[in-house]
Amino acid sequence: MINLHNKQFKPFISSEEIQNSISNMVDRISKDAGNDIPVFVGILNGSFMFVSDFVKKYPKPCEVTFIKLASYEGVRSTEDIQRLIGLTQNLAGRTVVVLEDIIDTGNTLAEVHRIFKNENVKSLKIATLFYKPEAYKKDFKIHYIGMKIPNKFIVGYGLDYDGLGRNLPEIYQIKETQFMTNLV
Ligand code: 5GP
Repeated sequence: MINLHNKQFKPFISSEEIQNSISNMVDRISKDAGNDIPVFVGILNGSFMFVSDFVKKYPKPCEVTFIKLASYEGVRSTEDIQRLIGLTQNLAGRTVVVLEDIIDTGNTLAEVHRIFKNENVKSLKIATLFYKPEAYKKDFKIHYIGMKIPNKFIVGYGLDYDGLGRNLPEIYQIKETQFMTNLV
């Protein structure tokens, strides 16, 4: 059990499970990319560990860039997505794979689609390490999913709770009773 800002979190997904899941995604994505050199677009902040481990496992030439979006306040996702750093290079004609740490409501994903709407990329695919199917409210296709998880708040492996927990190499889940009482 760990304590962040006086909330308790319990161990949920080990670093070994995370790494196995990433290796599986790398296999699928590199097969699908064929001879194209993909551009991986990580969504900061949460995806920095995932992108780092993902590209280290990627067996062929690739490019990596980031955009920085923010939507979360404490333990709640908000509709108001802020674009803190947008695309900084022309991706016209490129095979793009967006790497998200976690897809929850899908609000961030909607913003990603707005960002790419006029970019004329060759293909745009979405990969997420974690996905909460019960929370997802959009219709956008998610092409690659690492792990489906319940609709409970998690920290670790790049994901924070009010700034803390990003450095943990594994995933922790909030203790449910606390989550419920603190939401009201
Ligand atoms: P969405 O826009 O799909 O609701 O949420 C996407 C973003 O919200 C993620 O990139 C992540 O930053 C944050 N997020 C969603 N669920 C969680 C969670 O369980 N824990 C943490 N720490 N962040 C989350």
